[in-house]
Amino acid sequence: MYIIDGKEISKKVKEEVKEKVKELPSKPKLLVVMVGNNVASKIYVEAKEKACKNVGIDAKTICLDEFASQKEVIDIIEKANSNPKINAILVQLPLPEHMNTEKVLNTISPMKDVDGLTSINQGKLFMGLNCIVPCTPKGIMRLFKEYNVNLSGKNAIVIGRSLLVGKPLAMLMLKENATVTIAHSKTKDLAGACIDKDIIVSAVGKQKLITEEMVKDGAIIIDVGMNRVHGTIVGDVDYYAVKDKVARITPVPGGVGPMTIASLLENVVECYLIQKAVI
Ligand code: NAP
Repeated sequence: MYIIDGKEISKKVKEEVKEKVKELPSKPKLLVVMVGNNVASKIYVEAKEKACKNVGIDAKTICLDEFASQKEVIDIIEKANSNPKINAILVQLPLPEHMNTEKVLNTISPMKDVDGLTSINQGKLFMGLNCIVPCTPKGIMRLFKEYNVNLSGKNAIVIGRSLLVGKPLAMLMLKENATVTIAHSKTKDLAGACIDKDIIVSAVGKQKLITEEMVKDGAIIIDVGMNRVHGTIVGDVDYYAVKDKVARITPVPGGVGPMTIASLLENVVECYLIQKAVI
């Protein structure tokens, strides 16, 4: 079977979180801050709330309209930072254009930074130190582990260099001794950069970016992309063209997506435990 089944592994992770939560003296609490009416964001936030509930985590969402000021968002975060009952804070991205995303994210206490997007957590990750790891890269690393993909010495390419996915994932794979190329929109000859790679991770958001000619026989493909096409979701990879060529591939949906949510739940518990250790 060539599928990397994120749906199945995410169930296992969720069960682990559920068991951990049962042993805690109180319920961990996640605060989600959402600004604007982005339909996709709403769906993601609802999915996160539901997943939290299923494992015994309290989740509360504060929704602000698209005209809310940056100060309003920062005030909410600062209040949550000093509220001991809130263990984890997530700002749903994207924020409206009139806000400085970096400034808003860096208002979150690094101990409550459940998405691992503050400079402190990103800096620690780049230094190879323990930190709260962004959910999508964390989920992908778990998939490698579950499918016994030993990264040491492998030639890998990560396409996309966002702080949410590409950059942190490249660092995590480097830490596991892969030789990692990072590609982006200005990369010349993406096909040439992919063809000799043992592992290809695409985190771009462009349907059929990765085609059959770009993939060597027996490669492992992680498709992070989520593209809406005629009411369905597809990844960045031309899945049906490459699936018989590769050793393993994540489907979309059912690959990386469910792992992102499962990792979020793990991170809420991690935030809770960090705070209990400090108090
Ligand atoms: P992002 O911030 O928009 O980053 C996209 C990256 O792709 C950028 O680094 C960009 O390069 C690069 N890129 C754009 N066109 C390219 C091209 N033709 N060739 C090579 N690289 C190109 O997006 P993101 O937040 O990282 O998300 C990426 C994708 O993953 C999206 O489809 C998103 O929906 C999906 N996603 C899925 C999950 C999940 O759980 N499954 C989680 C997060 C994101 P530049 O830096 O040069 O602009």
